[in-house]
Amino acid sequence: MIAADPPLASRLTNPALLKPPSQWGAWSPAPANFSVNDPATGGRIATVPDFEIAHVRHAIEQSHGAQKTWAAHTARTRADHLKLWFRLWLENIEDLATILTLEQGKPLAEARAEIRYGASYVEWFAEEARRLYGDIIPAPVSNQKILVTRHPVGVVAAITPWNFPNAMMARKVAPALAAGCSIVAKPAAETPLSTIAIANLAEQAGIPGEVFAVLPMTNAAAFGDEVTGNAKVAKITFTGSTAVGRKLMGQGAGQIKRFGLELGGNAPFIVFDDADLDAAVDGAIVAKFRNAGQTCVCANRIYVQSGIHDAFRDALATRIAQLRVGSGMNPDSEIGPLVSAASIGKVQALVADAVEKGATVVIGGRPIASQGHFFGPTLLTGAERSMKLATDEIFGPVAPIFRFETENEVVELANDTEYGLAAYLFSRSLSRIFHVADRLEVGMVGVNTGIISTEVAPFGGVKQSGLGREGSKYGLEDYTDLKYVCLQTQ
Ligand code: ADP
Repeated sequence: MIAADPPLASRLTNPALLKPPSQWGAWSPAPANFSVNDPATGGRIATVPDFEIAHVRHAIEQSHGAQKTWAAHTARTRADHLKLWFRLWLENIEDLATILTLEQGKPLAEARAEIRYGASYVEWFAEEARRLYGDIIPAPVSNQKILVTRHPVGVVAAITPWNFPNAMMARKVAPALAAGCSIVAKPAAETPLSTIAIANLAEQAGIPGEVFAVLPMTNAAAFGDEVTGNAKVAKITFTGSTAVGRKLMGQGAGQIKRFGLELGGNAPFIVFDDADLDAAVDGAIVAKFRNAGQTCVCANRIYVQSGIHDAFRDALATRIAQLRVGSGMNPDSEIGPLVSAASIGKVQALVADAVEKGATVVIGGRPIASQGHFFGPTLLTGAERSMKLATDEIFGPVAPIFRFETENEVVELANDTEYGLAAYLFSRSLSRIFHVADRLEVGMVGVNTGIISTEVAPFGGVKQSGLGREGSKYGLEDYTDLKYVCLQTQ
């Protein structure tokens, strides 16, 4: 059912990672297949079944039954399965990274880091499964006890994007399973193989296929329609665009679905005059160019105070010029391809709009002619709020510098967006750090660092960037409902 083409199949030491997960055998065959392509070459690497709405319905039905058995296990048993899954995940890191790079494009070193990052959520939630504590609240009358307990919400539907095909799924499946939920998952059609691989490892770890079901399919809207309309689905956890998140939430309103939404971002990256220049440049490189700029927490608008502007621009230009662009499978590559030809077109249009409105291209600014979807790492100066890249997620390796003068001015500019996911600020002044971090309307702030994602902290946004948190103790609570019992003792 999954046909891995020779370039992929021959590279895996454990080809069983891409076997059809066992529960597919219980479903009627998919009427068609679709191709998974390598964005570095455009060539096909595998074909997978293209499931349809009837399969989604079937998976939900199975999941609904299986969830009750899964939830009836002790937290210890669920944790043991998750720990075994974590170990298998890391034992297969090279194969998982190869699959990820071939279907998504990011350099192998980044793919390995993503596999480790994804695994860290499985380990964390295996640990947290056993700490899903309740509460006893002092009652207002003397003969009562008030007990509060947490319960799994039930069947969860997960929808993930193509930019972190391993980690985005891990961040949803691990807490859901830890809490005692089951999960029906649709990975992005561009990158279904990473999810199929971890689902096979989950089965090997004793997690039943019905408890974590995977449905590769090209008709994303059909999946969305079914899971938002099916009464057996309790929660939808979605990572993707704000537009699709809004649509799903509207569709789910009729049944009061619970939602976890990780949506778009437009992160400001603020460099004050008193910043450590080297740290700010390092931070900008990682916050802007990781995954070729295709992350929701990527620095989208780089605000640099006048006094440090030229030094920062020159240092950043030097570093950008050294970035090596190429296929992710080449160990020297630091910037891989964008996911599609459409992405190249979008990034090119944003640069053209900025230049037309007065920005200067210091370096890059155009696609690199080759067989894949490569865009040259780009630095723009003279960026202004009227430019489209000030409001749109760039999702490509383009760093626009906006010059600013005062703290109040930059806070106002930074908050001038419908999004509120991440922000970064660089300064040596402790009072400024607290003052600015407090006023930024976002869910996450990186201070003097460009890397903020970790399984121990709550990842998520405010405003149109979403609802709920992934990771940390809060991420587990999002998969539970509270129940309160009022106990009269005499
Ligand atoms: P991106 O721009 O990152 O592709 P999308 O929001 O379009 O963002 O896609 C993120 C995920 O949402 C993908 O798995 C995609 O297939 C899925 N998706 C897109 N449209 C819908 C929809 N109407 N209902 C459910 N899922 C959808």
